Amino acid sequence: MKKQLVAVAAATALLGAAAVHAQGIQIAPAGSTPSRLGGSQNFVGHVTVDMAQVGQSGQHGSVGMVDFAPGARTAWHVHPVGQLLIVTDGKGWVQEQGQPRREIKAGDVVWIDADVKHWHGAASANGMRHWAVAYKKDGQSSNWKEQVSDDQYQGR
Ligand code: MN
Repeated sequence: MKKQLVAVAAATALLGAAAVHAQGIQIAPAGSTPSRLGGSQNFVGHVTVDMAQVGQSGQHGSVGMVDFAPGARTAWHVHPVGQLLIVTDGKGWVQEQGQPRREIKAGDVVWIDADVKHWHGAASANGMRHWAVAYKKDGQSSNWKEQVSDDQYQGR
């Protein structure tokens, strides 16, 4: 009896999935994609990345929510077609190479031009969360460079 119930539940789930795909709008329920930690090659400090993966969302770009603990930041990098950052929480920094770092905070929207070397991250005393949308060229949305030193991070 229990096995039959499991089989019925599995069949129902399959039918449900098929029905979802038949529609023109797909919804990824919150939490359906596991969070991952930002790797130490491309980040300093504690960084959590939640990629938005639903339908064709990854076809032309990379879309993800990035959560930086205080002091955490990306390495220097470039985006071949540019990047949109939408800051949803906290306070942080963005810096273009050769320019002073600039404060960003919840509600700010940032556009980074193609091939502009830069980094972004949290302030030293406050966390920061942003959505990051980076468009793809030849399948690539980011090219990673060296880490941001503590002196660079502090604006020294
Ligand atoms: Mn970037």
